Amino acid sequence: MEYQTGETSSLTFICAVVVIIFRSELKTRFDSTARFRRVGLRRFFRVPIEELVYDWNTIEPDFPPPGRHIGFDDETLRDGLQSPSVSEPQVEEKIELLHLMNALAIDTADIGLPGAGGTHAAGVERLAREIAEQKLSPDVIRALYTVAIRCGAKAVCVCDTVGHSTPDGARAVVRFVKSIIEEQGGNIRLDWHGHQDRGLGVINSIAAIQGGADQVHGSALGIGERVGNTPLDQLLVNLKLMEWIDNDLSRLGEYCQIAARICKWTIPYNYPVFGRDAFRTATGVHAAAVIKSYKKGDQHLADIIYSGVPAGAFGLEQVIEVGPMSGRSNVIYWLEKRGFEPNEERVNRIFERAKGATCVLEESEIMELL
Ligand SMILES: [Zn+2]
Repeated sequence: MEYQTGETSSLTFICAVVVIIFRSELKTRFDSTARFRRVGLRRFFRVPIEELVYDWNTIEPDFPPPGRHIGFDDETLRDGLQSPSVSEPQVEEKIELLHLMNALAIDTADIGLPGAGGTHAAGVERLAREIAEQKLSPDVIRALYTVAIRCGAKAVCVCDTVGHSTPDGARAVVRFVKSIIEEQGGNIRLDWHGHQDRGLGVINSIAAIQGGADQVHGSALGIGERVGNTPLDQLLVNLKLMEWIDNDLSRLGEYCQIAARICKWTIPYNYPVFGRDAFRTATGVHAAAVIKSYKKGDQHLADIIYSGVPAGAFGLEQVIEVGPMSGRSNVIYWLEKRGFEPNEERVNRIFERAKGATCVLEESEIMELL
């Protein structure tokens, strides 16, 4: 079970709160190592992408792949449910989400069961709680982790409970704790648990992995207390695009939709990758490029020509709409996609309506003009 001692304290100046995790029967574990393969994202590419795009992301890489398995701990059903705006899902619904976590090769899931871990564990918890009341200087961190390791902890977690950390801070504190683990003989899992208060959840997790974290925590859509936890979905997307992991993420869109539905949560329209508008365009020049790629039969080019994220890799697709900034090609594509003949009269009628509109046309509005 996990002792999130810092979660209830208000530690304005503390950058990292220490949490001790013991390997527990209560944690659902999914072994994903057998499914872990180092096959790059390049297999999605049908054209040599370097010929089409000059990728500044790769020019001075300060984030080389760590070359080891990165674990993920899903906090949706524990930290996530501490959000004041979500509902407690039914048990069957939680199981549904657990199956999707399994499909995404997420390593462990915190299923939120309370539990006592015997007097030994309770002693460590009390110690951690006490120390969490103080500023965590290197000396205090060293003392705490050394005690935890000597008490038999199988895993330790550095927890930025109040979301204060920057990427530099996350990397530094994780690197420091890693050195303590090594001093004590190693073989103890090191976790990073981040929050979104400064909007740095994803980049902090990446920096923590760089600093030596074996496993990182996050929740579906970043739900959690205050502004939430590290959004696990966004973290998975980025690590996949950085080629640090090779989890099959083709059901990640479904995972987000189900998490939102069972927790009665609304995904913002502009939420990265999984928001309604993430791959939706009505702009003529954008749509024309996407349509041209589809016509060439190049699904992947269509996915990346006007998007930093290839929708197809995450179970999603580009959506072409018709609005005041659209060209005729939007209208033609819209009609063809739905099996309607794009004759000139029909296209003109819809195009004129769009040009006079103040926003993107609803599907029903276009249907009336057919
Ligand atoms: Zn937390």
